[in-house]
Amino acid sequence: MAQAKENERMEKIVSLCKRRGFIFQSSEIYGGINGFWDYGPLGAELKRNVKDYWWRTMTQQREDVVGLDASIIMHPMVWKASGHLETFSDPMSTCRQCKKLVRSDQIWPIVIESSWARAIAELVPGGTVNTGQLVNWAKGKGQRIAPNLALVRNPEVTISWISERIQKNPAPFEAKELLQYVATEQFNQTGLVLPCPHCGGELTEPRPFNLMFKTHTGPVESEENVAYLRPETAQAIFVQFKSVVATARQKVPFGICQIGKAFRNEITPRNFIFRSREFEQMELEFFIPPDEIVAALAGDLAGVRGEGHPGEPQPNWGWQIWHKYWVEERLRFYESIGLPRTSLKEYWQKPDELAHYAKATVDILFDFPFGTEELEGVAARGNFDLSQHEKFSGESMDYFDEVAREAWKKFDESKKQELREDYREKKYDSLVRKGLELGEAKAQAEKESSDYFDKLAKGLYTPHVIEPSAGVDRLMLALIAQAFNEEEVTDEKGNKETRVVMKFHPRIAPIKVGVFPLLKNRPELVAKALEVKRLLQPHMSVFYDDTGAIGRRYRRQDEAGTPFGVTIDFDTLGENSALKDTVTLRDRDTMKQERVKIDDLVPLLISKVR
Ligand code: ATP
Repeated sequence: MAQAKENERMEKIVSLCKRRGFIFQSSEIYGGINGFWDYGPLGAELKRNVKDYWWRTMTQQREDVVGLDASIIMHPMVWKASGHLETFSDPMSTCRQCKKLVRSDQIWPIVIESSWARAIAELVPGGTVNTGQLVNWAKGKGQRIAPNLALVRNPEVTISWISERIQKNPAPFEAKELLQYVATEQFNQTGLVLPCPHCGGELTEPRPFNLMFKTHTGPVESEENVAYLRPETAQAIFVQFKSVVATARQKVPFGICQIGKAFRNEITPRNFIFRSREFEQMELEFFIPPDEIVAALAGDLAGVRGEGHPGEPQPNWGWQIWHKYWVEERLRFYESIGLPRTSLKEYWQKPDELAHYAKATVDILFDFPFGTEELEGVAARGNFDLSQHEKFSGESMDYFDEVAREAWKKFDESKKQELREDYREKKYDSLVRKGLELGEAKAQAEKESSDYFDKLAKGLYTPHVIEPSAGVDRLMLALIAQAFNEEEVTDEKGNKETRVVMKFHPRIAPIKVGVFPLLKNRPELVAKALEVKRLLQPHMSVFYDDTGAIGRRYRRQDEAGTPFGVTIDFDTLGENSALKDTVTLRDRDTMKQERVKIDDLVPLLISKVR
């Protein structure tokens, strides 16, 4: 039941997005293209506000982060070094009958939502099967909506399996079990068949499918000219790390951030804009010194203490506390644009879920109408990326740290020895854990330690990185879902009606203020309203509307999520001399109105929308 309600909410959101011009299906007049979306006038403003605010808080309001705007297509070796060519794949199954592809790890939610599975669920309340009803359905509606389902193609055989199961075990069927039974004509090696959500046919075993979009540079479509649309924005940051260090006058710890398009050939794009094939990311790579260096320089290494934000960055912070810092910063960001903390969850990936190079990853989840899903990932990636690019490009990714070099010079021999030994032991342990034979691990730890400290004596090391990586489109969906409210209100005539109001935080609202002359047919009201519009326009997005009753104009702006409405009436013109040159300012959420001087409008509204 809850599921149906949630879907109903999602349907209302999708329909409002189309009706009010937030989001359209791409290429709709040609029937659309799966996994691609366009942002309409209101959506484009909202998206721009979100990205601008992220950029402002990430770079302009911090001293330690700078921006980058890199190309979408990069040298193909970038993707070899990053591991995307080999490993950036999802397990995928193909339907043996209709040949459509389904992401293997997402089969069940899609099957259960399919029209044929829903029809069968209705025939089998509580999992108790009436075989006669199933056969009737198979010979009727089933032919149309699930032509390749075993039950439809060969009802007698499938029903015989089902009857055998009931004889052996009279318990009601679980939903998934029944859907597998009706799809199975012949049991294969693994038992029951996995059904295709599109036609009911049989899905193959999972096979990896690379998610990168391939293209060619230049006129010849040869192997040498293959290039890829970037599947994430992060790699350009690593590739340009040295150029930024050379030009930006930043010292580690510092970050480089980027907003831009990313492309993934998702097998099953779904949930509106949540999983699409073209989307935007807002990513930060925050470079920090390795823990040994922090400990050596600061004399100690601060660990994570307790819950919550760890406060202002300190010179003795190791990677764990930096990681925690960025998780908390990101949660604060979401709260500051209207996602309440209660709608957000932190999921700390378990050791066996982590990517091989990651030391820790936190997924920031949001309660979407279709479930609690990832909005952003915050990963501690060690120095994997920079090291990989150093290996594949042959270019050194070493960072020169003057402070480290000077500190090293001042350490006495015993301190240096202590640091070396400590490093070597940790390295040795990690190599043994990776499965290296003891003698080999010892030799390698020895070599790595001596290389590392030889470099450090010159002030050189490869920085580590913390990566908060957010999806703009998923955030758009979260903001729209959070803002969507239906309220019952009573109009001036006492009639009850439903008010749809998008309660966007004023900071990101597409339109900040609506300006309305009380009546359209009074030139003096219209002239004054246009004057107010022109006064506000240089400072914020304004929408002028003079058509229809004032209540209807408010409703239209409520649906667009405009937080403030300014109405120019006869008092503004001086009918009541005490109120001359004042307007009513209406608050979208409380619907309260206050009288404000026109001269005060700009500073007042700016203080509310920034
Ligand atoms: P998922 O597991 O949902 O596929 P992911 O863990 O692969 O996501 P990342 O590679 O960490 O995602 O990408 C960072 C962010 O980019 C995600 O948190 C998400 O907000 C966004 N993102 C990733 N894939 C998509 C997509 N197909 N459509 C929209 N946004 C996406």
